[in-house]
Amino acid sequence: MMNAPATVTFNPCLDCGACCASFRVSFYWAEADSLGLPAAMVQQLTPWHACLAGTNQPAPRCQALVGEVGQSVSCSLYAQRPSPCHEVQAGDAQCRKARHKHGLPALPMLALSEG
Ligand code: SF4
Ligand code: SF4
Repeated sequence: MMNAPATVTFNPCLDCGACCASFRVSFYWAEADSLGLPAAMVQQLTPWHACLAGTNQPAPRCQALVGEVGQSVSCSLYAQRPSPCHEVQAGDAQCRKARHKHGLPALPMLALSEG
């Protein structure tokens, strides 16, 4: 039986940022306009898909990520971040993969309240 996720009062993402510096963050191109993303933060990949600038390279790092991965980070596009940024949850498989890439220990699956 699965245990209920732990409820926490801190946000481990604030001293991590690994998932913003591990993967290509791509989305349906029209999201960029509807969210008002700055053109400089978006790279068009195909007629239908775009990604966040900086994430379409061998060592991805979103250009909106501010700070040092594994130390202290913030997202300069937090209010406008596209759908893939909402999907990763602290402690899930993507999170574990990203943290492993950056030499950070896996987190337990956490329940975070949106701030
Ligand atoms: S979801 Fe995981 S990998 Fe992404 S910033 Fe939060 S703790 Fe780090
Ligand atoms: S927009 Fe923000 S949350 Fe999304 S990948 Fe970039 S830094 Fe991370």
